[in-house]
Amino acid sequence: MLKALLDIGFLIASVGLIFGLKKQSDPATARAGNLLASYAMLAGIIFALIYPIDVEGSTDPIGYAWIIGSLIIGTIIGYRAAVKVEMTGMPQMVSLFNGLGGLSAVLVGYVELLNLNADVPNFISSASASLFALVVGAIAFSGSILAYLKLDGKLKDSQVAVKGHQYINYALLAITIAMLVVVIMSGANNIMVSILLVISLIYGWSFVAPIGGADMPVVISLLNSFTGLTAAAAGLIYGNQFMILGGILVGASGTILTVLMCNAMNRSLWNVIAGNFAGSGTSAATGPQGTVKEATPSDTGVMMYYSQKVVIIPGYGLAVAQAQQYVKQIYNILTDNDVKVVFGIHPVAGRMPGHMNVLLAEVDIPYEALLDLEEANEELANADIALIIGANDVVNPSAVDDPGSSIYGMPVLEVWKAKNVVVMKRSMASGYAGIENPLFFKPNTSMLFGDAKKTLADLVNELKSM
Ligand code: NDP
Repeated sequence: MLKALLDIGFLIASVGLIFGLKKQSDPATARAGNLLASYAMLAGIIFALIYPIDVEGSTDPIGYAWIIGSLIIGTIIGYRAAVKVEMTGMPQMVSLFNGLGGLSAVLVGYVELLNLNADVPNFISSASASLFALVVGAIAFSGSILAYLKLDGKLKDSQVAVKGHQYINYALLAITIAMLVVVIMSGANNIMVSILLVISLIYGWSFVAPIGGADMPVVISLLNSFTGLTAAAAGLIYGNQFMILGGILVGASGTILTVLMCNAMNRSLWNVIAGNFAGSGTSAATGPQGTVKEATPSDTGVMMYYSQKVVIIPGYGLAVAQAQQYVKQIYNILTDNDVKVVFGIHPVAGRMPGHMNVLLAEVDIPYEALLDLEEANEELANADIALIIGANDVVNPSAVDDPGSSIYGMPVLEVWKAKNVVVMKRSMASGYAGIENPLFFKPNTSMLFGDAKKTLADLVNELKSM
């Protein structure tokens, strides 16, 4: 009876996970979706803990003390990390947490393989889920840890990758597959399993080593999908459908996100994995290409106040400056003055998908004012001002008109079509892709230099005084 009730509970929790995920695809419902999925996951964990398992000869067959002790420690660490993390540090945190998910799969796979008796009738099918969890979990673990160290600036690409690193990776992949065969032939001999684990860890690290900085979010998303699949494998090992479903959802959504990010940057996944990041392309920063006009907060304020339509383009610099509160004030002042204000959100603006949506949602900018790339480009064609706040690569015209540029073909916000363009940043420095931006030299562009927090505060003061 209890089992039947818990099975129904798992089914309801599974539906909660699916609807939670669905709701997360829209900014208006994302928060509720996240909560729903979290509650569904919590319910699934509780049901799994009380699910009756018949193991004879032990008073604590499930090891509740270990499980509850680990849950408490994990919850405290996870909660504190989530409260403390800055928005700009999210990719690192996701990477670290993902790595720990991979490590959990490794532990499950390893223990199951060591306990597996080679004489069981269908050894290969019994061992396959554990082998998958062990190998892919190890790759996700060491790869994610390296991704974390790189994103956090603790390690540089040049310290971990060598020229032609891809060939090392091909060799390591071949060795890993060969070792997998050896493990199966040996009937999951303990020493062979341990060697396979070490090789998989080395391969995971080496796989991420040559991948360049701005491609890291793509690779994190890919590793995330790997971890999801290992969770599904662990679900197969324990015959837990909820775990299988949750793992498949993470695996599938991670894969979709990876593909979407690649499309938004006009890169193939293979190109990302091969480590040919755009920043190493041909059109690296080459120095000034003409004259630059400077704007002041006062000119910009007047232009905006007397405009009919303003399109604001937020980028990574806005997240760094944490100046979203001023953006909201500008939005309020202008809309009160009957100026139409919309936001052009590029899918890879910032350092992770949805970065700008989250930033603007924090200050209650209405969702209907947030336009995606295509909608924003339509608005830009007849906008009076495009105000770019700390964005660079996502507004670079080279993507459209310079076939020699490493970002050529990447869909961008065509801000130069607006009557006036004001770019707010601290200097003429390049963005993440490390390439020159000809936008800064266009006749209708002026630069408003300074930290976005300061320049936006000045702009708000100017607007208030009108
Ligand atoms: P960029 O990194 O291209 O540019 C950000 C600009 O902000 C910089 O040029 C910098 O110029 C400026 N800036 C930094 N700090 C401040 C500050 N405090 N005040 C004012 N300006 C500041 O960012 P974008 O958002 O335009 O583009 C995102 C990049 O990240 C793209 O290359 C994209 O491909 C990549 N990427 C994003 C992913 C995602 O999921 N979002 C995933 C993978 C890659 P200065 O130093 O002169 O101030």
